[in-house]
Amino acid sequence: MSTQRSFFRTNIAEMEGYIPGEQPQSGGYTKLNTNENPYPPSPNILDGLRKACTEDLRLYPDPGALSLRAKLSSVFGPSPEHFIVGNGSDELLTIIIRSFAGEGDKIAYAYPTYGYYQPLIEVQGAQAVVVDYPDDFSLPSALSETNARVTFLVNPNAPSGTLVSTSEIAEVAAKVRGILVVDEAYVDFSEGGCINLIQDFDNVVVVRTMSKSFSLAGMRIGFACASPELIAGMWKVKEHYNLNRLSLVAAEAALEDIDSMRKNAERICTTRTRLTEDLRALGFFVWDSAANFVLARSPNAPAENLYNALRERKILVRYFNQPRLDDCLRISIGTDAEIDVFTEALQEILADPS
Ligand SMILES: *Cc1c(COP(=O)(O)O)cnc(C)c1O
Repeated sequence: MSTQRSFFRTNIAEMEGYIPGEQPQSGGYTKLNTNENPYPPSPNILDGLRKACTEDLRLYPDPGALSLRAKLSSVFGPSPEHFIVGNGSDELLTIIIRSFAGEGDKIAYAYPTYGYYQPLIEVQGAQAVVVDYPDDFSLPSALSETNARVTFLVNPNAPSGTLVSTSEIAEVAAKVRGILVVDEAYVDFSEGGCINLIQDFDNVVVVRTMSKSFSLAGMRIGFACASPELIAGMWKVKEHYNLNRLSLVAAEAALEDIDSMRKNAERICTTRTRLTEDLRALGFFVWDSAANFVLARSPNAPAENLYNALRERKILVRYFNQPRLDDCLRISIGTDAEIDVFTEALQEILADPS
């Protein structure tokens, strides 16, 4: 027996690492567990990708993403120097932490929220300051009082789906000492949106993704909007060719046909209303969601048993075995047909006394 040597930095050796939602390796599942969009990407995107599959793939992509940033500017308003793009918004979160917080520096977020912040903070060797959300997921005032170098706020929040107003976020931006990151992964399913705040606040970074509303989780495209000074600094941290040629093409084509994204988002919101009502009728507590998922607290059956019983029927939802979420299921909004499969299975499971 030899003792295993560890070559890792202590924080890496000791951390747990993020566990993404299950991606089944075989077909036949009703997949409502990772907030993917049930509708296909716009045909404009698929056409563009087919046309881009040429010998030009031997060339590096544009490290400045100039053409994409010009399109982001025309859709969202601020000039192109206000935008940076990422290999998914997850990469932008890494860039933000590396840009603004060193070892031992404080990074704050409110819990429960997106589970990836904690491992990112641990990788950096920074110090997490975790403030509790109240049960109604309104903004805790303590979040503005941590003196953190970076504060993360997901809006609409995950996994609760709850939305706070832009004016409340402006108050946080005015109070915090460091950077305020507003992670708007789900904003297209809501009435919210904080991009305008970057005009008034030099410490606000708004992060968005094409994974959810644009049906492009597989392409890994995110973008962030902030003052040109913040963007220029973050640019030094970014890997130069982080968006590949195909992702750049897909992102531009997605913005050219933004109406199809909006139409799908509307359908998803309609299905969300129906699922929320059905779950409440079955006795669940469901938070009002402004995202493409709902969080439902189980009335009496342990949520883990429900998760397992659904899984046996090849229906995947998300169960979080962690404080304050372990009596809940998070259900991504699928097509109406998928949600019917889910609701009928759930009714059967709840009716079965064993
Ligand atoms: C899905 C999600 C992300 C990551 O999105 P990608 O662009 O696919 O990396 C970031 N933040 C939140 C809150 C999310 O839910």
